[in-house]
Amino acid sequence: MEDDRDGRSIVRFKVNEIFHSIQGEGTRAGRACVFVRLTGCPLRCVYCDTEYAFFDGSFMELEDIIADVQARLGPVRRGPDAPFVELTGGEPLAIPFASELLKAMLGLGCEVALETAGSHDLAPVPREVIKIVDRKTPGSGEGDRWLESNLDFMVPGQDELKFVLMDEGDYEWSKAWCAERGVWDRYTVLFSPVQGVLDPSWLAERIVADGLPVRFQMQLHKLIWGAERSGV
Ligand code: SF4
Repeated sequence: MEDDRDGRSIVRFKVNEIFHSIQGEGTRAGRACVFVRLTGCPLRCVYCDTEYAFFDGSFMELEDIIADVQARLGPVRRGPDAPFVELTGGEPLAIPFASELLKAMLGLGCEVALETAGSHDLAPVPREVIKIVDRKTPGSGEGDRWLESNLDFMVPGQDELKFVLMDEGDYEWSKAWCAERGVWDRYTVLFSPVQGVLDPSWLAERIVADGLPVRFQMQLHKLIWGAERSGV
């Protein structure tokens, strides 16, 4: 943050991309969404599909980001399937003043979601922001980067816990982790396979056979546009 000549505070973010597409994951999959992807992530998950967001990007002032989002979004619509906005990365909460950006997004009047690895403190994130928290598994290589206190800042019935599974070991670990905490009584829990690594039919059948109260998901945008395309 810095001050301009009039003493006005200027907050800048390094932005990898802003794009308008279809939400590919979570309970809002299939809905139109404007994504703001911030640059930078201190984690290195073995299956990361957004390595291009580790360093590349251009600096933008907060107000210019909001103006860009508003232009793409058009008039705010209401209803359960209305277009919404998501802040993603990289790891957006590793970026200073990310919560200020989320507050400004809420000011647009639409739903706002945040995609985060759960490795950084959720306390400053406004309660009304829908938090999609990716609980990294041992197979990701970043399972130790979890802040357990983040569960205290997740809103029951609103926020979502996501597990991206590499193998059967990840599946069993995630099942035990959820059962220990009873998280599936409070949040939507999403289990998804790492694309090209874990057989989706195996995962779907295990969820059914074990009677788990979780939602199976695949990344819709990769089914539509393929795994390599960015900006969708
Ligand atoms: S937290 Fe997300 S962006 Fe960062 S390395 Fe893991 S998958 Fe990639």
